Amino acid sequence: MKRIAVFTSGGDAPGMNAAVRAVVRAATGKGIEVVGIMRGYQGMIEGDMRLLGPRDVANTIQRGGTILLTARSKEFRNPEGRAKAAEQLKKWDIDGLVCVGGDGSFHGAHYLHTEHGFKVVGLPGTIDNDLYGTDYTIGYFTAVDTALDCIDKLRDTGASHERIFVVEVMGRHAGFIALDVGIASGAEEVLLPEHPTPIEEVIHTLKESEAKGKKSSFVIVAEGYPGGGQGVQDAIEAAGFESRLTILGHVQRGGSPKAEDRILASRLGEAAVQALVEGKNDVMIGVTNHDISHTPLADTWEKRKDVNAHLRSCVKTLSV
Ligand code: ATP
Repeated sequence: MKRIAVFTSGGDAPGMNAAVRAVVRAATGKGIEVVGIMRGYQGMIEGDMRLLGPRDVANTIQRGGTILLTARSKEFRNPEGRAKAAEQLKKWDIDGLVCVGGDGSFHGAHYLHTEHGFKVVGLPGTIDNDLYGTDYTIGYFTAVDTALDCIDKLRDTGASHERIFVVEVMGRHAGFIALDVGIASGAEEVLLPEHPTPIEEVIHTLKESEAKGKKSSFVIVAEGYPGGGQGVQDAIEAAGFESRLTILGHVQRGGSPKAEDRILASRLGEAAVQALVEGKNDVMIGVTNHDISHTPLADTWEKRKDVNAHLRSCVKTLSV
């Protein structure tokens, strides 16, 4: 293996730069050249690439976003677009690829392998933590901390005004962010797409809390919960509660990556290069029970990782 490429794709996530840095430096250390592809699959199709040396990734480990930029490419979704991308990769003499992204990006990488024979490995780069085959994804820890920080601030005002606060957090179809944030913020209710608590039950709990003398309650809603934060607020207002809705949105994708994301990204980046050198292919590199794991790319979208059952029961137990 003489030359590999690295790119970031889909939604950006804090820690992606640490992953790119690790890939560049681990590969260079083994005498392998690294090409950075700009703007994900769109840049691949357009040949927007450059050689990256260890100095090019200096001073990036602490930066949010991605220095390689990211994009969503419609063209790459069809075989003609992918053929154009493959042509560019061949022109650049690229033997292997490291794709940092979510399951959509992994679909694309899988096709580059099955249709054009490239060696591909994926690194889980998404704040949602919704990928099977890894306990955590790059960006998740920072997103949870960012959301928590916002909720702590809302708590001050919530307690002063004796209201119910409904806070919608990101996570797409998954409730990992919501559950961790719910536990860490001491929320009364956490509403998840995977195990959706019926809204009537939520209203019942809020009435019980009120009867017990709770002055303000926090309801954390994953964006994938039926109706989202707005639906929950509408329902509880209709039940006679005064409430405020906060949708945290893209703020959760920003900021300097937390230590956990930098460490995870550094480990995974190094392991990705190692995997390519060892001939591994069409797999995602993850962390399972603290160890590096390799999962077929197709499993990452065909199989489902569930939220932690113990944490779910803790929300109930601790919100008395
Ligand atoms: P996030 O979890 O942050 O949304 P993602 O990687 O799932 O990240 P997507 O927008 O789904 O983000 O995918 C990124 C890019 O990957 C798409 O713009 C497209 O170019 C490519 N892609 C996604 N799905 C497919 C597919 N089924 N076939 C080929 N390419 C795909």
